Amino acid sequence: MIKKIGVLTSGGDAPGMNAAVVAVARSAAMYGIPLVGIKRGYNGLLRKSPALEDDMEELELDTVLDIADLPGTYLRTARCLEFLDPVWRQVAADTLREMGIGGLVVIGGDGSFRGAEQLCQLGIPCIGIPGTIDNDLAYTEMTLGYDTAVNVCVDAVRAIRATSRSHDRPHVVEVMGRHCGDIALTTALSTGAEIVLVPEVPWSVEGAAARLNMQLAKGNYRATIIVAEGCWDAMKPFDMYTFLNSHGKRCYEGEPISAVRFASILKRMCGMVEARATVIGYTQRGEQPTARDSAFALEAGHLAVRLLRDGISNQVIGMKRGKVTYMAIGEALKAKKAFRRELYDLVNRM
Ligand code: ADP
Repeated sequence: MIKKIGVLTSGGDAPGMNAAVVAVARSAAMYGIPLVGIKRGYNGLLRKSPALEDDMEELELDTVLDIADLPGTYLRTARCLEFLDPVWRQVAADTLREMGIGGLVVIGGDGSFRGAEQLCQLGIPCIGIPGTIDNDLAYTEMTLGYDTAVNVCVDAVRAIRATSRSHDRPHVVEVMGRHCGDIALTTALSTGAEIVLVPEVPWSVEGAAARLNMQLAKGNYRATIIVAEGCWDAMKPFDMYTFLNSHGKRCYEGEPISAVRFASILKRMCGMVEARATVIGYTQRGEQPTARDSAFALEAGHLAVRLLRDGISNQVIGMKRGKVTYMAIGEALKAKKAFRRELYDLVNRM
């Protein structure tokens, strides 16, 4: 019988992380297992803070119930570079053993899962819950926070399209997702945006301008171009410096492209009076979780505790065919993400 469970949030924060911690607390309380919250990801296991309460705290159900629907993560999150070093991982495993923590729930992305896999090898049972807005984990149909992030983007794009219509001017909107274009694609699909650019599909500035020109020719002057933050890496070479300077816009040699610069280029290539850009940014990470994310958090947290209680370890929780399920961490991390190319073509089709 497991005596005590630990829970931590690691990597980038995601809406629903608190809800998952609460789910773990509810489930642990149901089975009568004490729960310890570990602060700032794996950092809280390294005993570097002057006081123990800076690194961990007993989580009472009544306290955590209050945070269920709050954005952010009550336990805080952080990257922990020391954890890449086996010496520090051993410190973490020793800390857990000394605290009597017989199992750990790790809420984070693929990096955090790699850390959890290493802890399992040191004899600490771990279960991962996918907490990242990026939806970049191939083994699961959804990650915690993705649905909320997309909803933030959809609300923002709807508002932007209203003002774009008023002024008859196109708008470039940049959304998050790191190397994954899912947030951009789903936002584009949900808002009727005319163009979407993602890191998974190479694209050219000239091609995007040609597509925008086709919209303008049809009398649609308020087209929305959704760009994923990682899409700039998939852009074919383009001499922004020469182009902008020769079109009367100052630009510095070697300056990286951005949504604002891209709008400026499109405006000049398409002969528009104006084109604007908005980077939605961190609002995508700080919103209250949607019902979908909260429900997933609840099921995932409960399953994580059940697995640890049943002596099952080294697993990550995910969604498959709409059902919450689990698989081995190693196997999950090997899965390759398939991009929904057909839907991408559907958005970009004229
Ligand atoms: P995410 O979990 O969102 O992918 P990171 O990649 O930054 O975020 O990873 C979060 C933390 O997980 C890192 O700061 C580190 O503490 C731990 N981690 C990442 N990769 C490994 C690894 N290969 N081995 C051990 N720990 C790792």
